[in-house]
Amino acid sequence: MKQQTRVVVIGGGIAGCSTLYHLTQEGWTDVVLVERDELTSGTTWHSAAQVTNFGMTQTMVALKSHSIRLYKELADDPEYPINYHHGDGGIRLAGSQTTMDGYRHFASMAKAMGVEYEILDADECARRHPLITTDGLSGGLWDPMDGDIDPAQLCQALARRARKAGAEVYRNTPVTGLTQHKDDSWTVHTEKGDIDCEIVVNACGYRVNEVGAMMGVHHPVMSMEHQYFLTEPVPEIEALDHRVPLLRCPIDDFYSRQEKNGLLVGFYEQDCRTWGMDGIDPHFVNALCPEDTDRVLPVLENVFKRMPVIEEAGIHSIINGPITYTIDGAPLVGPIPNKRNAFCIIGLRAGLGEGGGHGWLLAQQIVHGEAQYDTWVIDPRRFTTHANVELCALKAIEDYQNEFRFHLPHEHRPAARPMKTTPLTPVLAAEGAEFGVVNGWERVAYFKPRTDFVETHGYHFNETFEVVAAEVEAVQNTVGLTEVNGFNRFEITGPGAMNWLDSMSCSAIKRAAGKVSLTYLLNQAGNIKCEATLATLDDDTIWYGSAAASEFHDKDWLDAHLPTDGSVHIRSLTNDYTILVVAGPRSRELLSAVSREDWSPRAFPWLSVRKAFIGIAPAVVMSVSFSGELAYEIHVPNAQLYAAWLALRQAGESLGLQLFGSQAVESMRLEKGYRHWKADLITEFNPLESNLGRFVKLDKPAFVGKQALESGSHEQRFVSLVLDCTHAPAQPGDSMVSDGRVIGTITSAGWGHRVGKNIAMGFVESAFTTPGSQLQVEVIGQPVNATVVEPCLYDPQYSKPRG
Ligand SMILES: Cc1cc2nc3c(=O)[nH]c(=O)nc-3n(C[C@H](O)[C@H](O)[C@H](O)COP(=O)(O)OP(=O)(O)OC[C@H]3O[C@@H](n4cnc5c(N)ncnc54)[C@H](O)[C@@H]3O)c2cc1C
Repeated sequence: MKQQTRVVVIGGGIAGCSTLYHLTQEGWTDVVLVERDELTSGTTWHSAAQVTNFGMTQTMVALKSHSIRLYKELADDPEYPINYHHGDGGIRLAGSQTTMDGYRHFASMAKAMGVEYEILDADECARRHPLITTDGLSGGLWDPMDGDIDPAQLCQALARRARKAGAEVYRNTPVTGLTQHKDDSWTVHTEKGDIDCEIVVNACGYRVNEVGAMMGVHHPVMSMEHQYFLTEPVPEIEALDHRVPLLRCPIDDFYSRQEKNGLLVGFYEQDCRTWGMDGIDPHFVNALCPEDTDRVLPVLENVFKRMPVIEEAGIHSIINGPITYTIDGAPLVGPIPNKRNAFCIIGLRAGLGEGGGHGWLLAQQIVHGEAQYDTWVIDPRRFTTHANVELCALKAIEDYQNEFRFHLPHEHRPAARPMKTTPLTPVLAAEGAEFGVVNGWERVAYFKPRTDFVETHGYHFNETFEVVAAEVEAVQNTVGLTEVNGFNRFEITGPGAMNWLDSMSCSAIKRAAGKVSLTYLLNQAGNIKCEATLATLDDDTIWYGSAAASEFHDKDWLDAHLPTDGSVHIRSLTNDYTILVVAGPRSRELLSAVSREDWSPRAFPWLSVRKAFIGIAPAVVMSVSFSGELAYEIHVPNAQLYAAWLALRQAGESLGLQLFGSQAVESMRLEKGYRHWKADLITEFNPLESNLGRFVKLDKPAFVGKQALESGSHEQRFVSLVLDCTHAPAQPGDSMVSDGRVIGTITSAGWGHRVGKNIAMGFVESAFTTPGSQLQVEVIGQPVNATVVEPCLYDPQYSKPRG
């Protein structure tokens, strides 16, 4: 066994084998995999091993289609062929038109990644899958590439290729401890000796937290028991001259595929079970959980109705095994939060299908610092301090119970809520707030006009349209008040702070005390890493503000570049403060009514910051505006938040103050052309492509990413569009098309209530970026005419925030 290597991957299931193989593909061959037992002896060996292209974001589609391409190549390798039923095809059924709308949207989204789904009506579903009934069926989505693979052969094939490239695999070698050294390198302690390495990767499946504990990390990953049955041969299948397609059914909570001449049928029962919460037997190896057929009986009854042949089929065997879940259903693949040189590929609940792609994007991150696609949807840092296995267990149960029922736009499910609140949450609830969840925080979406108001979630504009319109109108004409919680906030101090931040950002930073700048931080490839509002409180104290979920991500990036001479310090204030936003033409009057400061434009112009009292509450106030109106962000310590709220609420009465929520903000920021981090600002594009050239100061002597930015190409550009339709907004991921060809992708969209337009934003081929350019956007799968417009549709002179 080697005593020194570059990377040690811990765990020999699909996650570990794929990572090892892809590291060698990225050029790192001095790498090893350490497995406590035999390869695939965790969950992988007994997986149903279905491999689909279906994903709900472009990154997920990209990584799944990578799996399919890779598995096909492995299957066709004459030296070591493996069993892969490639391209049996699969149907995802739908029991409502809303689900069909979702499928139309996902089909449009996948097109830009070169993946074609087909939308089927109910009869066509039954024609392609002759064993199903069409009762209550609205139709389905067809994935022609769907199939299944032999999981053990797949892992052996990946390990074999990795070994051929120079990697080594040590079986029956349990990792017993991890020691990190001052230079951030590691020693991996195993029962067979120590291995020193630069980087460790946790790929330990359901034992994720045994290895996590060895490095002092608690991963928000939970295991659920999951069962499938294998039937005896089914005569109707034997009679067919082709394999039956795979089936996933959100109506009846099951999936099925052909296995030999019978069926494999898996269940997502409501009465489901977490597994291993209080520790896992060390001898649970190549093992299964006890069969529990009673639990799945209610699902089975529905399965019989959907596929009557199953009722007659004998059960050959039952598999019940642990499957890992995370808080939002997507795995954790990338850097381990608050650690250096440590990565994970964990929480895989569809790891056979996705594992090829996850290992690919992880290896790219390890070797190059970033993958070719933005990986935020799988980034382990997307959850922050609130994420733990207790919370994850509740979300895992909810997710399991809704396995094939995707979230609809603006849908926030109830499990594990509230997670994070402020002292104002009950106050806002009493005011009629409807909340959404942002990184665990309960954030007000809008205020319900009646106590019995209920939103119908779907892809069309719904009842909230008029509610949000009224909130926007109040902000535009009088003054509005809202809470923005969870906003990420670092206090950066020290004599070197300003110069260091300047070297981190491609933008001009206003150094003078009392000034605020919007800045962009680039990665080594010159693409957008972070967006930060920098507020200079005094010569040595800067507040760094960024999106609610960005805390661990941004801290990681800043820490990696922090000067070693102790001249800069970073302290998180994220959980200590909350923002109250006042916005609208009368917001200056409101501030003046509760604070003795001079708020005139001369004394406190747009993009200023100062400390002030709001009533009796101390606050840091910034004259910044995401709505485009005259507006102030009031950052208040949580202990005094209610006091500040009361002061504003009471003083606002005579000014016509109204409350508003994040959906109104969303409408207004689209009109202004302002961006959302990780929707419109992603690591696949640089700031010039993102049409943020005004924030780039190329004449600065140096900043992170400068060289790459200067030599970057600009094949796509960010644009704003106005759509010629009033029934529905576009969705992130929808395709832009011209002459039937995909030319771009929508990143965010919605109705602009002040301008009365259906607005969308996204990246499009450079030839279509001139304002006035005509193209089409697929809205719920239907092409809608769209016109490229100037990004700022409301108050382009910025006269309103200047007041
Ligand atoms: C019943 C069932 C059906 C499924 N069906 C599908 C499906 O159809 N399609 C699909 O895509 N996915 C499916 N899945 C999920 C899929 O099987 C998993 O996502 C995948 O196998 C997880 O792989 P992994 O490598 O993350 O974990 P594992 O396979 O559990 O591998 C982890 C490895 O780490 C090793 N390890 C742990 N601790 C240590 C240590 N201290 N030192 C060294 N090694 C260690 C373990 O021994 C193990 O080999 C199914 C799962 C179940 C349970």
